[in-house]
Amino acid sequence: MITYDMLRTLHTIGDGRNPIVSLYLKIDPAGDFVKRCRNLLYDALKAARRENRISEFQMQRIEGDLRKIQNFVEQNAPIWIKEAQVAQVVIFSSQPLRFWQVYPLPRAARERAVVDLSPYIRPLTLLLDEYKRYYVVLVDPKKARLFEMFLGSIQEEEKFVDVVGRVKTPPPRLRRKVDYAIYNHYQRVAEVLYDRYRLGRFDLLIVGGPPEALAGFLPFLPYSLRHVLAGTFTAPVNISVREALKEARKIEREYEMREEREIVETLKNELAKKDHGAVAGLEGVLRALMENRVTTVVVAEGFEHPGVRCPKCGYLGLEEETCPSCGAPTVKVPDVVDDLIEEAVEQGARIEHVLEPSLVADIGHIGALLRYPEE
Ligand SMILES: [Zn+2]
Repeated sequence: MITYDMLRTLHTIGDGRNPIVSLYLKIDPAGDFVKRCRNLLYDALKAARRENRISEFQMQRIEGDLRKIQNFVEQNAPIWIKEAQVAQVVIFSSQPLRFWQVYPLPRAARERAVVDLSPYIRPLTLLLDEYKRYYVVLVDPKKARLFEMFLGSIQEEEKFVDVVGRVKTPPPRLRRKVDYAIYNHYQRVAEVLYDRYRLGRFDLLIVGGPPEALAGFLPFLPYSLRHVLAGTFTAPVNISVREALKEARKIEREYEMREEREIVETLKNELAKKDHGAVAGLEGVLRALMENRVTTVVVAEGFEHPGVRCPKCGYLGLEEETCPSCGAPTVKVPDVVDDLIEEAVEQGARIEHVLEPSLVADIGHIGALLRYPEE
């Protein structure tokens, strides 16, 4: 699982002398990525040589990395295709630095390979900014297990047992004592969650457990946590991590679909008002973005379109041959939507990927909510 800590570690990997290969590869069901991988790596090497970022000597030192990455991709291709959960694989490799890191991701950003003296991590930071992190808690009268879920993977954080003894059928004289112990346990779990939330460890919460535990525990959640409760599921507290992930991802998906429909509705309402609080279509969104007015981009997952980019000032457009902003010649980009998303994240805008593309087909697959009306 990717965390900010890992990114910080990645940041410190380069020593200014040894080259590192970074690869972002989209996984397609047909398996064409194996071939593309070879081309991407080859092109990255050529670019590094052309731009004099690394010397001939350094170049030789990473030939082993290129082979290693390629072999790894070839060997794992059937697994990634079969699992169908992996949309992109990110690999960092530097044999001179004895460094090797692989991240399979459920969402894809642009494909690219970079050979440089530091790892190329910007697309990863963008993913971290764009996606919500979830906390999953499994609770019953005796135990609680906490998980962190992010970008399709899950990690068990902590486990604690609060109530000892047999809880199921206490004799009448002990019932009050046992009830009291259970209340304390629920209270403590809620407090731990609240602390983590205040520290910014998660955006949304998912709670699982046996039905009577859910009914008992949920009232202990403080208001701010109820507000970020994405959903609940019933399951025994001791299910496997894999099962927990499966349940939690179902809820994540439902939550995101709900959120998606709401944001599309808001966008369409704004468009219907015709008072320039929103734009539809790629051209309109690009224009608004260049004017720094976008607060939220709503885009159909998988929507791609060619366009142009100004290498000097970063201007993005559909077909201008010279940059209207600085006059430099533009370069063609295969998918300007990808550039648009990166730019929007950097401007601090929210990105909503619509997983049901039909919801936004009628507005040109993309739209945006704007900061202030056009003059
Ligand atoms: Zn320009």
